[in-house]
Amino acid sequence: MSEATLSETSIPQQRLVVTEIPGPRSREIHERRRAVVPPGVHSVLPVYIERSHDAIVVDVDGNQLVDVCGGIGVTTIGHTDEAVVAAATAQLNKVTHTLFTMTPYEPYVRVAEYLAQHVPGSTPEQPYKTLLMNSGAEAVENGVKIARKYTGRPGVAVLEHAYHGRTLLTSSMNHKAVPYAYGYGPRAGDIYRAPNSYPLHDGLTGPEAAARTIAHLEKTAGAEDLACLVVEPIQGEGGFIVPAEGYLPALAEWCRENGIVFIADEVQAGMARTGTVFSIEQFGVEPDIVLTAKGIAGGLPLAGITGRAEIMDKSQPGGLGGTFGGNPVACAAAVAVFEQLEAQSLLAEAKRIEARFTAGLNRLKEQYPAIAEVRGRGAMLAVELVKPGTLEPDADLVAKVIDYASRNGVILLSTGIYNQGIRFLPSLKMSDELIDDVIDVLEAAFAAA
Ligand SMILES: *Cc1c(COP(=O)(O)O)cnc(C)c1O
Repeated sequence: MSEATLSETSIPQQRLVVTEIPGPRSREIHERRRAVVPPGVHSVLPVYIERSHDAIVVDVDGNQLVDVCGGIGVTTIGHTDEAVVAAATAQLNKVTHTLFTMTPYEPYVRVAEYLAQHVPGSTPEQPYKTLLMNSGAEAVENGVKIARKYTGRPGVAVLEHAYHGRTLLTSSMNHKAVPYAYGYGPRAGDIYRAPNSYPLHDGLTGPEAAARTIAHLEKTAGAEDLACLVVEPIQGEGGFIVPAEGYLPALAEWCRENGIVFIADEVQAGMARTGTVFSIEQFGVEPDIVLTAKGIAGGLPLAGITGRAEIMDKSQPGGLGGTFGGNPVACAAAVAVFEQLEAQSLLAEAKRIEARFTAGLNRLKEQYPAIAEVRGRGAMLAVELVKPGTLEPDADLVAKVIDYASRNGVILLSTGIYNQGIRFLPSLKMSDELIDDVIDVLEAAFAAA
């Protein structure tokens, strides 16, 4: 690596606030943006970022912010990871595009091999097969499409509190029509939404919650009309909801008995974030199809649809693909991410982060009764805030804490359909010192609120 590149990427891993946040340069760019970018493309924190490395982003005013959002779980391996940057740069200088469905290239095949090696259920004798696309929503779209082709059935089952994207089909699958779908109708049809498992609120065991989900789907859809059930093993936008033990296995079993394709949407929870390569490994389920995106290519756009060969092979030649799907530069970056899983002990790092972060958050929970629960796995953690003594969501408090944190150089994001939670999606490079610093800022935020 040249010295110029090194000095550009090595940013001290410290929080540093030198102006108001957003600062004057950010505010100036924001004014220009208002003239040419529509408000529907909303930025939660209009602080314009110039550089980033590991767990720190530097804005155009020179503030160093601790990134506990990671572009919503995309920079899992850290911002501008050296191996990812080197691999993408090398590929950029070789070939940037040919179109895999015209004249293919090897990095695509290597990503498919890595996915086949890691997805639960895939074996060396019967490896799962992969289609690569560009975004999480495209992964969901194609997962549904492939399941429909395989089963010959139309129905798509989803869960309450789910989030699957912002295309027509996926925005119709989300729990929150507001803001994702309303006004953009007609929405896609044949989507059936069933109650999820939300232990803090429903008090049900996994098998009880699964029985409720299944009864609802059998009544509202009819099992034999369902092509697939799409579930986030740990719900992301819905509030980092970890289902009760036994919930997912019971759903998977019901799918198997009824010929319904079980699709795990691992777009947010996958790729080492939760301490296993895929979060569903922790629930003992082997999905028929696994969807990946967000963290898979260290910040470059790439998405995978990885499924049992029998299901994937059902689509006719030409039925699957897209101009940019599995772009060579994104694939080279993803290969580097897979190589770094072991080289940088990323699964162990996720567990380190979980231990340090949850210890700090649980200390805050003892002090502040508004924190109803600390939950999540690995580097996918959240607190749910309520009016003390009730389980009523306190979105105002969530907003206040996040606002205080961002003004003090910590990037946080809410979660949950009622904005009842604050989510923590640190990169796996975040040091213990930075985690402690984030907890200190949170403590001050709760004290101020
Ligand atoms: C973000 C997300 C998506 C959509 O991904 P995009 O890349 O934004 O299209 C789908 N599913 C889950 C679980 C997500 O978190």
